[in-house]
Amino acid sequence: MLKNRNFVQQIKFMDNNLIIYNTLTRTRERFEPIHPPFVGMYVCGPTVYGDPHLGHARPAITFDLVFRYLVHLGYKVRYVRNITDVGHLEHDLDEGEDKIAKKARLNQLEPMEVAQFYADRYFLYMNELNVKRPSIEPRASGHMIEQIALVQKILDAGFAYVVNGSVYFDIKKYNEKYQYGKLSGRVLDDMMSNTRELEGQDEKRNPADFALWKKAQPEHIMRWPSPWSEGFPGWHLECSAMGMKYLGETFDIHGGGMDLLFPHHESEIAQSTAAIGHESVKYWIHNNMITINGQKMGKSLGNFITLEEFFTGTHKALEKAYSPMTIRFFILQAHYRGTLDFSNEALQAAEKGLKRLLTGMETLKKLAPAAATQPARLSDDIRELKQSCYSAMDDDFNSPILIAHLFEGVRIINSLTDNKETLAAEDLEQLKSIFDIFVTDILGLTDETSGNQDELVDGLMQLILSLRKNVREKKDFETSDKIRDELQKLNISVKDTKEGPSWSKG
Ligand SMILES: [Zn+2]
Repeated sequence: MLKNRNFVQQIKFMDNNLIIYNTLTRTRERFEPIHPPFVGMYVCGPTVYGDPHLGHARPAITFDLVFRYLVHLGYKVRYVRNITDVGHLEHDLDEGEDKIAKKARLNQLEPMEVAQFYADRYFLYMNELNVKRPSIEPRASGHMIEQIALVQKILDAGFAYVVNGSVYFDIKKYNEKYQYGKLSGRVLDDMMSNTRELEGQDEKRNPADFALWKKAQPEHIMRWPSPWSEGFPGWHLECSAMGMKYLGETFDIHGGGMDLLFPHHESEIAQSTAAIGHESVKYWIHNNMITINGQKMGKSLGNFITLEEFFTGTHKALEKAYSPMTIRFFILQAHYRGTLDFSNEALQAAEKGLKRLLTGMETLKKLAPAAATQPARLSDDIRELKQSCYSAMDDDFNSPILIAHLFEGVRIINSLTDNKETLAAEDLEQLKSIFDIFVTDILGLTDETSGNQDELVDGLMQLILSLRKNVREKKDFETSDKIRDELQKLNISVKDTKEGPSWSKG
């Protein structure tokens, strides 16, 4: 405890003004972590049975933004995002075939082969989108012991029952003591009357009950031994079990897409509360969906466009290819709680906007400081701009407002290029720091046209120029001129100066 207190003294600067919209309380709340400077964040990750699509990009980028900002504020964040490789049945209900097992059966693969393949694809494309890897990426199949122990805890507490080797959560019993539906605002009576009767539902005492453990049918490949039967865990179970394992019984943030609010997150709350007697999560954060012609985009709906198709432009709905950073910028241009509708026009507008922002940043890097800031008010403008950027992020991670402020910064940069206005060294550094912090570190936007590419070109040019120097030393001017002329054709001009040869584009 003493160690913690020292930490708290050290991190006074972290007194933040961050406001988060908490889905659980439906209010905007000041962010006060349970054990500062530590923050625990759990986000529901992908079910790995298909190629990552645009619908996967939004939650990944949303919580990447949250993660990056909390780290920037000085918090020590443990970010856990799971990989669902078992137990997620078709139609998100308790009946049907496991999504991964189905894919494996159709392709004659081992289910774990399917999970490994698509998990790798997911990481690959998230990397392209510059999404940072979480601290821990646990897999459901690797946490059977924890899940079985959690089912036992819920049974011992009297909120579950066993029928024919399957274990079901008793929602009615739970609702007598706690409240089922508090996250989604649903009322149990409505849920009971609206639940469709499905095959196998007869095992349940109540149609709204959900499976904690399912006995495997003979044809079911993915199965594990348990005290109740050879079977597999219910889909909601892994997140309760792994969240508490890695972040403790209570932790700060739980995130995911709005489509997971019910029944997944509602059931997670019920499971954890039934097992430990109190709630586990302080702030629930949900990102809204990406729609295509106003309809949710998803694999199960068959109207999705994969990230690979976006990056290569190989889908009939796409007019051209869109780069990873264009997709990232497109997503960040909307607030995470608002809907975002896909269209070629919107993506092309994002592409233009991103280019304007990054070109401004590139210009800024080349600006030299002046003796004085002219007009003097620019100093205040820049200071206020930085404050406005922080205020936008503090306002429930409002990235579109942040981006609007950054465009004000681009306007300042453009006014400096024609020397109508100037900045002294200190103000120039301030302006540079705004772009470094907010564009690079927090929004995670990188210039895809420069960077490695520039380094490569520079390296190649140094090699060519040193070879040219060798032939000139041997008085082979014919070869030396040929090199210069061929480079000229590529729009690269070489000048021989007293300090040696130099090159430039154009
Ligand atoms: Zn989950």
